[in-house]
Parts: sequence; C-alpha cells; structure tokens
Amino acid sequence: MNVYISATLRNFFGRNAKVSVTASTVRGVLDFLIDEYPESKKIIFDESGEIRDFIKIYIGDEDNTSSDKWDRAIPQDTEVLLLPAIAGGAPNDSIISDERRKEVSFDDSEVERFGKHLLLREIGVKGQKRIKAAKVVIAGAGALGSAVIQYLAAAGVGTIKVVDFDEVFLENLQNQVIHTTRDLKRPKVASARDTVRNINRSIIFEAENARLDSENIIDIISGYDLVIDCTDNYKARYLINDACAFCAIPLVFGAIYQYEGQVGIFNLNGGPCYRCAFPAPPPAGLVPTCSEGGAISPLPGIIGSIQANEALKLIIGIGEHLDGKLLVVDSLYLHTRIINIEKDSKCPLCGEHPTITGVQEFDYDDFCGLKENQEEAAIEGFTPEELAKRIEDQDSITIVDVREPHERAILRFPNAIVIPIGQLVRRMNELNPDQDTIFICKQGQRSILAINTLREAGYTGPLYNLKGGLDAMKDIVFSHEGAWL
Ligand SMILES: [Zn+2]
Repeated sequence: MNVYISATLRNFFGRNAKVSVTASTVRGVLDFLIDEYPESKKIIFDESGEIRDFIKIYIGDEDNTSSDKWDRAIPQDTEVLLLPAIAGGAPNDSIISDERRKEVSFDDSEVERFGKHLLLREIGVKGQKRIKAAKVVIAGAGALGSAVIQYLAAAGVGTIKVVDFDEVFLENLQNQVIHTTRDLKRPKVASARDTVRNINRSIIFEAENARLDSENIIDIISGYDLVIDCTDNYKARYLINDACAFCAIPLVFGAIYQYEGQVGIFNLNGGPCYRCAFPAPPPAGLVPTCSEGGAISPLPGIIGSIQANEALKLIIGIGEHLDGKLLVVDSLYLHTRIINIEKDSKCPLCGEHPTITGVQEFDYDDFCGLKENQEEAAIEGFTPEELAKRIEDQDSITIVDVREPHERAILRFPNAIVIPIGQLVRRMNELNPDQDTIFICKQGQRSILAINTLREAGYTGPLYNLKGGLDAMKDIVFSHEGAWL
C-alpha cells in the first residue's frame, strides 16, 4: 500500500510524498517506516514512545491515530495518510508569540465581527488574538495590495502599515479595487487608508507615503512580524527580500504578469530567500513589466487573496504553507503547480559565504540594470516637447516604434515605422544613417535597449531615445483617440 507523507514531515522521509509500504496494520506501517527511515522515529514518537500530539494517521478518511486501532487489518487498496494535526493550531509554528497573544482582548462587537473565524476550530479565539496582535507591512497599494490590504483589514490584523509613493491614476482602476474614481490623483496610501477605515475602524493603519529604498527600508520594516511584497518591479523585490533577511522577518511574495501569477514565502526561519529562487532579474527592458505587459483584472485579486491567506496561516500557525515553495497559477488555462525552492548554499545573501552584507552596501540599480552605464549615458534623448516640435517643424527624422502589437492597438503613434526589438539588427538597413532616428516605447526603457542593440551591431547613424516614452508624451500631443492634435 501507499503511505502519503504530508509536506511538513517529508524531510524525515527522504523528501518523499509517497512511500510504498508492505504491511497489514497501522502498527506494521509505522514499524516499516521507522525501519526504512530511522530519522522519522523522533518526529512520530516522543521520548516515552507515545505518538506525538500533532501527528495524525488516517486510513482513507478515517482517523486511526489512537493506538487501540493499530492492530486492525488495513484493506490493501486504501491509502494511509501521515499528517500533522491542524486541530487547535500548532502554537510553535505561529510567528506571533503566546505572550503577545495573551495581551490581546476582544470587545463584544469584535466577537460578533469575527464570529466566522471563531467558529473555525483551527482559528478560534486564540488564533483571532494572534491576528489582532500581528503587525504586518504591505509594500505596494496597487493591484496585489488592493486584495491583501482589504482582506487582512477585514480579517482583523491589528496593525497594517502600507508603503507606496504613487498616486491613483485612471488606468489603475481596472484592477486596483481598493481605489475608486473619486480617489484619482490622491496618494494611494490615503485612498487605501479611507477604504480600510470603512472596513474596520479599530485596526491601526499606518500610511507610509514613500518609495522604498536602501536608506529607509530597514526603519520601515523593523519591529514588524511579516512583510508582504505587492510591488511590481525587480529592484523593489530584491530590496525587500534582502531587508527581510537582515531583519529576520518572513516575506510573503506575490507577482503577476498578464494571466500568470506567483506566490511564495521566503526568509522563514532560515528557509530559502527570493535570491535562492531567482538569483538575478532579467536584463532591464527585455521583459515588459506588469504595467507594460498588462494583466487580466481579477488576477491580482486571485494572487493577492492567496498571499493574504498565506499571511494569516503564518500568523495563526496552521496548515501547510508555501515556505520553500513557489505556487504558479495560470489563470488562462486554470493550471496551478507548486515547485520546490531549495535553499542555495551559494546564495550571496543567505548562503554559507554571503557577500551581501547590508542593503546600503548593495547597488540595486546596477544589479537590476537600471543604472546608466557609460554606453547608456551617451544615449541622447528627446523630451516629449522636443520630439513634438521636430514633428511639427516637419524635420527629416525617422521614428521607430519598438512596442508590442497590443500596445500599439491602444495608442497608435502616427508616422512611426514599427520594428520589434528582436528584428532590429536584421532590419537595420531600413534606417537612414544620415538622418536622426528616434526610438519610442511605453516608458523609455525598451527604447534604450533598442539603441544599445543597434550600436552593438555596428550601426553608426545618430540614435535618440524618447525620454519617459509615450507615457510622458501622450498627455501633450494626443487626443483620446490617439490621433495627432
Ligand atoms: Zn538565499
């Protein structure tokens, strides 16, 4: 028969999820497992030989944990499950200490408000007190943050700090459901604070209207129990990961792109970090960001809700979570898979010989390819106003649009020739080296990559970048239909 080993116990069973066992009783199964995996004895039994409190043995869906059932014959076609108990929680696994839980009390309205949690055996009063005692930092009040902030506020997390530097724009409202039309141009943290107040006035909401950087991040996250990464760029991801490792704060990571999302937990009790999973970001400009590539509206709700769910499980200390794993969700074909993330002994942050010693000593711009190196510094750019003037004066210039087809469908740039970055070198002869050539993209990053690509290929004509891309230009030269004014 097969014995299914719950993920939290697999380290003691050679990391196997399933073990094939020859036995006819539960006692026989346990003897077989301990023979085969001697290490497992100490996790199954305590010093006096009794089965440990948090271990459950199921045959099919029948609880056979009690030793008076161990000599019954097991039907050979059933599966035996070895699970950690979830009833009553596992206080040692919670990131909130018993001392802090005991300091918390509820009033009558809270008992009513959180009744559905109190009904759950695994949460109950103790779990809800841990939730109230918890102090969580949410980095980003955008798409993922909208789901995470609202669910954690509704769940009763006692202290929520939200960090974001941005304002609410019209394009945000497609998936940033914490903000509404009347919040346009307001700071996102202010809009998020108002929504949270409407959900639950009794929680402490701390608005941090700032961009996370290596100077401020340690101060911002120190003293908190958990950080939830809801940002949308690689620089912030690595910075948050590293700061969490230095402060020994676990991190719930989430990311979305088009139809796909990822969730993982890093830096939990010395477990793997984000760098163990992804040692380096893709080169700047090569992969469009979520804001350039788009995302289907409910996707951040799905991924953010899973992040909030993982956060609550860590706080309460129940269930299995994504520590050392990455959940990948494909919302277009409804595929999900969980891949294992091993701790990398060579990781420059959490490995055996770390080379990153502090966030202030590490150059995140350089690491993420955001720093203008000497070649890039030599790239000259036009401001939107300068380009508009050249077009108005009918100068002989070539404008090359390197955006993707779906981006051009939203906003067409007239008089531009279209060459995707991948075809640039092959189609170099379409450009006139005696004429100024201006590259345009959405945000002015991929156009820099295009210019560098052409230069490396030996193109010698004058090349210019549209600074800030079409995002910076559309307000001054386009009508709503995308036509020239
Ligand atoms: Zn690491």
